[in-house]
Amino acid sequence: MTKTGNLKLPFGRNEENEIVHISQVKRGKSCNCFCTACSSPLIAVKGNKNQHHFRHAVELDCESGVESAVHLAAKQILKQKMKIKLPPFKISESARDLHGRQVWKSDLIGNPHEEIEFDSVQEEKAIHGMRADILAQRDKNLLIIEFYFRHKVDDVKKEKIKKANISAVEINLSDLTFNDVKDWDSFWLIINDPKRIEWINNKKALAKTEKLRLQLEAAIHEEAKSKLTLAMADLEYASSEKCIKQYKHEAEDSINWELYGKRQWGALDQLPKYLDMEVPFGDFIFGCDRRIWQVTFYSAFVISGSELFSIEEVIRFLNGTLRGPTNYEIIEEYGKFFPEIIPKKVRMNPPSPWETLRIYFKNLIELGVLKLFYLQHEKKNFHYTIINKVPYGF
Ligand SMILES: [Zn+2]
Repeated sequence: MTKTGNLKLPFGRNEENEIVHISQVKRGKSCNCFCTACSSPLIAVKGNKNQHHFRHAVELDCESGVESAVHLAAKQILKQKMKIKLPPFKISESARDLHGRQVWKSDLIGNPHEEIEFDSVQEEKAIHGMRADILAQRDKNLLIIEFYFRHKVDDVKKEKIKKANISAVEINLSDLTFNDVKDWDSFWLIINDPKRIEWINNKKALAKTEKLRLQLEAAIHEEAKSKLTLAMADLEYASSEKCIKQYKHEAEDSINWELYGKRQWGALDQLPKYLDMEVPFGDFIFGCDRRIWQVTFYSAFVISGSELFSIEEVIRFLNGTLRGPTNYEIIEEYGKFFPEIIPKKVRMNPPSPWETLRIYFKNLIELGVLKLFYLQHEKKNFHYTIINKVPYGF
C-alpha cells in the first residue's frame, strides 16, 4: 500500500461540474456531490472527531476515487492560478582536454524558484500523439505538466516528449497526507513547491548544452595554448646567458652534486670534459646545469650501476632525482595542435630527453665508455653496456 493509501477522499464533483473541497460543502447528503471516478453520490462526513472527508453513499469498490479526485483538483487549481514555480534545470557537459582527460562543466537553465505565469492552461490536451495532464503556454513556449500520484510518466511518453522536444515537468504528489489537502490553500502550496517538481525535458537544454560544450572546448584550447606559450618562453630562457648563469650558480649548492659528484670528482670546476659536455636541450629538459645531470647519470649508471641499462631507465631516474618532467612534455604534447606557436626549427627537432641522452651517450661511445648493446625498435629504446668506467686518456 502506498503512503496515500490512507488518504480519504478530500474532493468531490458538485452539480455545476466543479471540483469542490470538503470544506466548501454542507454536511451529509445535502452536499450534492459525486465521486469523480464512479459518479456515484457522496456523503460529506463532517463530524467533530475525524478528519472531514467524502465517502460514497453506497459502499462500493471504487479504487481510483482518491487518485481521480486529486488529479482533477490539481488540474483545476492550476487553471485558476495560471502560474507555477519551477526549479532550475541542470545541464552538464564534458569534453576531453589535450591529455585526453575528461573535463566537466555544468550550468542551470532558469533561476531557482522562478515563477512562470501562463497565457493559457489547457487540461487533457492531445499533443504529438500523447495526452498531457496540463498543457500550459506562455508566448510561444509550451510546458507539459504531469501529476504523479500513483503512476509516474512512463518511458514511452518520456521518449515522445523528448522526441517532440517540448518542455515537460512532473509534480510528485505521491506522498500526500491529509494535512496537504486540508484546504485549497494547503493543496496549492504543495503543487507550487519546486522541490516536488522534476524536469522530464527542457526545450532549451540541447542548445544550451551545445553552447556549454563550445565554451569547454574554447577553455581547454586557451589553457593549452597558454601553457605551451609558457613552455616555449621557458625553452628560450634555458638558452639565455641569464639562465646559464643561474644554473651554474645553483649547481654549487645542488643536492645531486653532494650525493653523486663531490666525493668522486672533488670540485665542480675541475670536472673532466666528458662530464661537462654541451648537449642540445639538456639543461632545459633536466632543469639544471649540464654538469649536474651528467654527473648524476655517470655516477649512478656508469660508476655504480649494473652492466646494462636503457635510455628509458635513465630518463626515469633523472626525472625522479632532478626536478621532474619539465616543460618538454608540454611542447611535445601540445605543440602539434599549435604549429603557429612553435618555430619550425623546434617543430622539426623538438626537445626530448631521449634524443638528448642518445647524443650524450654517442659521445661516451666515442670515448670508449659505453657500447650500444641493442635497440628495441618498437620502443626506440636503446640499451647500453659499460666498457670502461673511465674513458681512454683520462
Ligand atoms: Zn467512486
